[in-house]
Amino acid sequence: MRNVKYGARLRKLVDAAITSKNQKYECPKCGKRNVKRRGNAQWECQSCSAVFAGGAYSFSTGVGEVSSRMIKEYEK
Ligand SMILES: [Zn+2]
Repeated sequence: MRNVKYGARLRKLVDAAITSKNQKYECPKCGKRNVKRRGNAQWECQSCSAVFAGGAYSFSTGVGEVSSRMIKEYEK
């Protein structure tokens, strides 16, 4: 499945991306650990079928957390 061959650093990065891509994440809506990757940066909860925008290969990214924190600040 992995088609990167050369360079230990690249192989590590690709392995991390693939494992975080196939992992299940906790749903922010219903709290169940059932969110799977639906497509590029699309994450869908298998229980309540809510769709979230996230990172390309992981459910939340550092930039995404910063922006959601900023949105919460503006809502006050
Ligand atoms: Zn859910």
